[in-house]
Amino acid sequence: MITDRKETKTVHVGRAAIGGKNAITVQSMTNTDTKDIYSTNVQIRKLVSSGCEIVRIALYDIECVEAFRELRKAFRDVPFVGDIHFDYKIALKAINAGIDKIRLNPGNIDADWKIHEIVTAAKENGIPIRVGANSGSINKRFLHLSKMEALVESALEQVQILEKYEFENIVIAVKSSSPFETIRANEILSKKIRYPLHLGVTEAGPIRQSLIKSTIALSHLLQKGIGDTLRYSISGDPVEEVLAGHQLLLTLGMREGINLVSCPTCARTEIDMQEYISLVNDMIQGIKKPLTIAIMGCVVNGMGEGKHADLGIAGTKNGGVIFKKGEIFGKFNREDLFVVFEEELKKLIHE
Ligand code: SF4
Repeated sequence: MITDRKETKTVHVGRAAIGGKNAITVQSMTNTDTKDIYSTNVQIRKLVSSGCEIVRIALYDIECVEAFRELRKAFRDVPFVGDIHFDYKIALKAINAGIDKIRLNPGNIDADWKIHEIVTAAKENGIPIRVGANSGSINKRFLHLSKMEALVESALEQVQILEKYEFENIVIAVKSSSPFETIRANEILSKKIRYPLHLGVTEAGPIRQSLIKSTIALSHLLQKGIGDTLRYSISGDPVEEVLAGHQLLLTLGMREGINLVSCPTCARTEIDMQEYISLVNDMIQGIKKPLTIAIMGCVVNGMGEGKHADLGIAGTKNGGVIFKKGEIFGKFNREDLFVVFEEELKKLIHE
């Protein structure tokens, strides 16, 4: 059961809003070299079309900022976060180039006047700053505390630096590679502040490991009303991060969309299940209507198991049976099956 969402301060990242009563946003990060404008452009396009609402991009030197300036022109509406870390000049240039949010810990900047310049530019342009800590960046000063408290205090130390400059347009993240530590740290942190929280498990691993670790942590926190934006961090294609984020929110009932169910397949399976799923997946991308769509491998059990679905296919040797709310709509050969299925899907969407 999902408890009431903790109300946090609203922070604007371009057209996206994080915190307050705003829907939880799904983020990802490009993994092409930012200076390779062509490849980064292609990847941003893929991320956006898969539903990525905030795109983070690494700006590791000044040339990256120049590349970003070009990308900004190509994606005027996309909310971008610049991942910066140490160099105040990069932060200033990124703000000048139109970045919408920066990821930077002020404690990593080596002079007060440099922090002051960043904060001033961020204030003038309405740019939030994300600060935080992960299990690898705990300040030694807090080592007498428990690991989770040390993680939280390390993040709060960064917040306090910004608050000293009367800057409160802040998002915070505390991440560990352990889902349980991530949960505990966010629970402690959320009691102490009203800034929006960015959820994620760091160094979560390749896709299978990440999906499990991140889902354990993120679903627990979201069900307790903690968290305003999230990222699945996966060693691999960032589009998978976006799809996983949307699926999690959909499954938790925090977002509306199509619930695709399919059978696990067995010796009775009459169809190429992957092919059928992929064809239907293409049809349902981005549809916000709450519908259940079923793809079942055979008619013998498929009809019964999928009867709760609004629309479904049960596979046959040469195509499939389409069923609507448990009733058979018709049997079709492979050529007509998906044409009819798409027509019926459109009718349901517009009902
Ligand atoms: Fe097997 Fe049919 Fe059940 Fe799919 S629906 S698992 S093919 S019996």
